[in-house]
Order: sequence, then structure tokens, then C-alpha cells
Amino acid sequence: MRDTTTSIIEEVHQRHATTMDGALADYIPELTRADPNHFGIALVTADGQRYAVGDVDVPFTIQSVSKAFTYGMALAARGSAAVEERVGVEPSGEAFNSISLDPGTGRPRNPMINAGAIAVTGMLPDSPEQPRFDHIRSTFSRLAGRELGWDREVYASESATGFRNRAIANLLCSFDIIDCPTDPIVEDYFRQCAIQVTCTDLATMAGTLACGGVNPITDDRVLSLGNVEKVLSVMATCGMYDYSGTWVYEVGLPAKSGVGGGVVGVLPGQFGIALFSPLLDEKFNSVRGVAGFRDLSRAFDLHLLRAPSMSKHAIRRRYRLSEVGSRRGQPDEHLELLAQLGHKVLVLEIQGDLFAASLERVIRALATDADDVEVIVLDLRRAGATDGSTVGLLRGLASNISSAGQRLVVADPSGVLTTDAFDGLDVELARTLDDAMRRCEDELLVGAGRAPSGSLRLDLAEFELVRHLSDHDQARLLPRFVEHTIAAGDVIIEQGADTDALYLLSSGVAEVEFTDPLDGSTERIADLYPGVVMGELGLLGQGRRSATVRAATDVACFELTREELMRLRSSDHLVYTRIIEHLLVTTAERLRRANREGALLRD
Ligand code: GLU
Repeated sequence: MRDTTTSIIEEVHQRHATTMDGALADYIPELTRADPNHFGIALVTADGQRYAVGDVDVPFTIQSVSKAFTYGMALAARGSAAVEERVGVEPSGEAFNSISLDPGTGRPRNPMINAGAIAVTGMLPDSPEQPRFDHIRSTFSRLAGRELGWDREVYASESATGFRNRAIANLLCSFDIIDCPTDPIVEDYFRQCAIQVTCTDLATMAGTLACGGVNPITDDRVLSLGNVEKVLSVMATCGMYDYSGTWVYEVGLPAKSGVGGGVVGVLPGQFGIALFSPLLDEKFNSVRGVAGFRDLSRAFDLHLLRAPSMSKHAIRRRYRLSEVGSRRGQPDEHLELLAQLGHKVLVLEIQGDLFAASLERVIRALATDADDVEVIVLDLRRAGATDGSTVGLLRGLASNISSAGQRLVVADPSGVLTTDAFDGLDVELARTLDDAMRRCEDELLVGAGRAPSGSLRLDLAEFELVRHLSDHDQARLLPRFVEHTIAAGDVIIEQGADTDALYLLSSGVAEVEFTDPLDGSTERIADLYPGVVMGELGLLGQGRRSATVRAATDVACFELTREELMRLRSSDHLVYTRIIEHLLVTTAERLRRANREGALLRD
């Protein structure tokens, strides 16, 4: 099947590929050697998927797109206070090469115009062990996920003609914004602009910003989340030179362009996008780059301020343990007791991102309708991302639950929250929802004076199947059982085998596994606890075993073979009938329960 994302990008590419408006940058003579036909679009998703259309592997110089990344490096090297002291964050509304300095302090307006960018380069550490430019190139390489080279001809060409940038640097020096002599700084700035990238590289670099500083392809953390936030802020207000206002209005993404023809845009948490086409408009932005971004923003609904409305269903399901229990098999008596007491445990299955707006709904739901509950289980299996508000809100919820005399259990199998999220609070963390449910069930059972399910050890006469018979019938039946012990890990019932016996689990835990005959994958579908009857389905249906039952711990069980059952049928037909009847009734009850749970859990 054709990939729809690529088709949409291809359409945008096709629409603008033949536009020949604009001109090559010629104030750096070497840039006029660029091929005006080149046009590439690349997109990298937050989970590292790449889409590429057109001339995405053609190398070109990064030019001003570098400014966003050196700004992030300076924030990391010097701290934001030191950087802000020397470079502002206000849009200048002027061209990239304007001499836009604060008249009093000499502070450049922002790091996205040349004055600010040269000041930023001047703030990067430079030592014989690690020369500044090496540091810049190696950091850019990490952002792109591959070793980047640089174009010495373009550098030499700019160095030979860059009088205006030298003048800016000298002004900055006169205001003590950068050190004198300024030449080493300006030359490194020219080299930084001459780093060679492809459109794919730029999309990955933008993708790294989209992922809060972690390269989505290599998983390398290059910048901190806090610094990325600052970089994206100035990109949003100043990244497109004196076109920045219109850009935000029309495209709505933090972006940065360069006179080499590259433009990057970032949709935080979702995409890094790069377009490359060297023909520039009068504001020195790539003509096809701007037009293409405008179309992509519309096609993929990328405008940052057009926030999608939050899913109405932050709470996917809400049920009590009396309605749906754990997936373990346990004695019917226990199940009945849990059906009576389970209303004390409320389960909320949360879906989607755990942001303030969605958590507010969870908090509201608990505040209005959980007064009669003793335990609240939050099931985070389907929860998505977190943000800076998540832990604070959940901790607040946890302490309110405690002060209401209730308990909070959080099931977070995929680790949406860090393990220390609830440190110092009375919150129980469970590995899976089923673990949480078992724990709650055991508490309810113990509270009702029963032994927790796992620790039971039953004699043959204690099983409901036997207990419901008269003494006379029991005496006919019991000698036909044989007791077995099975070591942990050994198979009790094998999927696909002929059905030859019924087992009563006396102690220990057994696990039921199902192997998919199509792909051979095996899944653990339930656990069986003492008191349950195993293998009755096969015996009743007279088919092959539908699943494997394996001892999870050392297990003791009583076996009644088909042969013995047949003997019972000949010698004591009535006892035989009572047993079969009992199995049918309990199986029907279990089926009824499964149907009820299935209806509740249905999507
Ligand atoms: N090296 C170029 C200059 O300083 C970069 C300008 C740009 O890409 O906007 O003039």
C-alpha cells in the first residue's frame, strides 16, 4: 500500500517544485553555485520515523539555522542568566544582518539575528583541548545523528566578504558583550554557518528539538528540556527574521531559516520538519520553503496554537471490583464473597495524556462519586505522555485520598510515571493492573476472615465438587482420585493433547498459557489458585486441550482420570451424574461472570 503521509508530502512538493521565484543569496559569492532547482522535504516523527521527498540528500550549508542550536549550547555552557544578560529575547522586526543592539547596553535584541548569534558563538567555551568550532561541529553531529562536515569554500567566501558581520562583532566588543579581538569569534561563526547538512539532517535536528533535546533516531540526549523550551521560544518569535510575525500567523511553528535555503520547523512532541530550496525571497527566506511549510501546516494541522480539543474520555472505564475481578482462577466461594465486597474497590482506567486538563476530570470524577470506596485503583496502562503538571496533580490527589481515609493503588506497567513520583506519600505501586486487583482481593478476603487465595491448602473433601455429595457418594468417589505433586515449571496439561483427566488444585499456583497456532507466540492468560478445578472443559467437551497449564510454583493436585470417571459411571451412575451436573452448573456460572465482565470491558 502507498504510504499516505509520503503521498501528502509529495503533493506539497509537486505543487511548488516548479516555482522559480526568488534568487540565490549572492552576498556570499560561493552560495551562487547552488542549484536553484533543488527542493527537498523531510519529516522526522517523535518516535524516529523518517519521511523524505525530493532532494533530501543534497548537502548545503546550514547558515542561520545554526543559530538556534548554538543558542541551546550557550544556555547549557553558561546558564540562562548569563546568556540573557548579553543577548535579549525580543523580536527585532529587522533583517537578519541588522545592527540591532540596545542603545544603552549594546545587547543584541535576540539570538536569531546575526548580532545575537555572534554574541552567542562568543559565549561558547574555546580552549586548546576543545576548540570552539570542534565543539559546535560535534554537537551538531549529535543533533543530526551523523558526523557532519563543513564547506571550506563557502566559509572562505564569507570570510573574505563578511565586513558587516565583523563590524557587528566589533560593536559587540565595544559594549563588552564579546571578548576582543573578535576575529576568532567571527571566523568560528562563519565556520559554524558553513557546516554542511542535508534536508534529512536538518529534519533530525529539528526532531531532536521536538523531542525535548533527545535525538529521536539515536536516543542521544543532546540538549536539556528546559533549554529546548527557551530555544523554541525564540525560534517562535524571531526565527524567520522580519517575517516572523506572518510566519507564526500562517504556519504556526517555531522555525529557523538560513540563507543556504534550509528552513526547519518544530511541532513539540510530534514532528521535526525541514525544507530545502536555495531560491530566497526578499526577506532571505527560502521561497519554496515558506510555501511548502504553509501547505504542510494546513495538511497536517500543525499550527501550534490550534490545539486539538482534548479527548472527552480521559476516563476510559470505571468499575468496581465486584463487577470485574482479577484474572486469577479461585474457588467459587471466594468469587462470591468478592462479588459482595468488591464495591469497596473502584478502578479508573485512564487513557490519553496526563495533562492538567485530563487529570482535572479524573480528580473531579473522584471528588463527586467515590465516597463509599475504600480503595481507588488508577490503571495507567493506556495513559500517554506526562508534562510538568502531572506529578504535582497526582501527588495532590494522592494526599487528598489519604486524608479522606481511602487508599490509592497505581498500576503503571509501562512506567509512565517515574518510580519516585509518589515518594513520601502513602501510595501503593503495582506492576500490572492484575497485580493490583489480586492484592485488593486478598485484602478483602482476609478482612472477611478467609485466607488469601495463594496460601490455601485444600483437602480433597474441602472442594465444592466433593463437598456437595453425601458421605455415601463421597466414599464411592474419593478413592478414585490420585494425589500428585508437580514441580514449579512442569506442565500439568498440554495444549493440543487428548483430554484424559480432571485436576483439583490443592496448593500452589498454576499458570494458563495459550500458544497461538498461527504464529507460535505464547501468552499467559490466567493464573489458577488452590480450590479451582482444572481441565473440566476438555473433559466435558471431549476435545483436545485448549491451553497449557503449567505449575508456576510447586503444586499439589488431585487427579481423576477419564478411565476412573468411566468406571464410576458404570458402577455408581448417580454419583457420576451428580458430579457432571455440578461441573455444568459451575461452568455455566463462570461463563455468566465472564459475559458480564466482557460486556463491561468491551470497547
Ligand atoms: N552566514 C550568514 C550571515 O551571517 C548567515 C545568514 C543567514 O543564514 O541568515 O550572513
